[in-house]
Amino acid sequence: MSTSRTVLVTGGNRGIGYAIAERMIADGHRVAVTSRSGEGPAGSLTVRAEMTDSASIDAAFTEVEAQLGPVEVVVANAGITKDTLLLRMTEEEFTSVIDTNLTGTFRVVKRAAKGLLKGRFGRVILISSVVGLYGSPGQINYSSSKAALVGFARSLTRELGSRGITANVIAPGFIETDMTAELPEAQQQQYLSTIPASRFGQVAEIAGAASFLAGDDAAYISGAVIPVDGGLGMGH
Ligand code: NDP
Repeated sequence: MSTSRTVLVTGGNRGIGYAIAERMIADGHRVAVTSRSGEGPAGSLTVRAEMTDSASIDAAFTEVEAQLGPVEVVVANAGITKDTLLLRMTEEEFTSVIDTNLTGTFRVVKRAAKGLLKGRFGRVILISSVVGLYGSPGQINYSSSKAALVGFARSLTRELGSRGITANVIAPGFIETDMTAELPEAQQQQYLSTIPASRFGQVAEIAGAASFLAGDDAAYISGAVIPVDGGLGMGH
């Protein structure tokens, strides 16, 4: 059994974030989720936050700190896609995905950092994607935002690694959630044919990796990219 921590998961009202929050609760942690609408799982504290707005992120942290104590584990999970081919992609489609997925992560981790330094303990877990390093047609905005999280975690590791703080990336493959349900059936079948495990992943499988990274056994792992993708991205 790992030490009980205060955990904040962004975008914890559905999908992967919800499953991570559920698993962290089962692991015995105190768990808060951010949400724009809807609630996190039973046993979690739900606070409102918009990833493109630092003030709302600051207010969310302040509320969590008041109710659960200083945040020790941060899971930056909230993210969006706006898929289209480069020649059709507008600047707004590019920058809005970067603003939510990458700058949103910056806003969250920056707000968390002071508390982590003060407590001389921190686990920063960034939810990237296999396509960050593998690439994906129609996802120049999204894959750029997700690849950048690798540099983010590794720079953070070099900045704060001596203070008991780790920063790691989880790179999920194709996981069954609302995000992937939007893809056309033909595209889903085409992805399936390329996955060595020959199936899509489940949200609980991402939650398992996050649970490990938050736990005592992962204290010496930092700057790592952990693929949870059925072998899709091997070698990337
Ligand atoms: P969902 O679309 O099911 O959920 C996305 C979550 O992010 C929701 O809680 C959503 O809140 C929140 N969110 C999105 N934009 C914002 C914003 N601007 N401010 C606050 N919250 C926001 O996605 P998944 O669960 O599938 O994905 C979770 C993460 O995992 C994402 O970062 C995604 O890129 C990544 N991922 C997913 C994969 C998959 O196959 N599903 C594969 C690889 C990576 P709201 O409900 O209010 O919209």
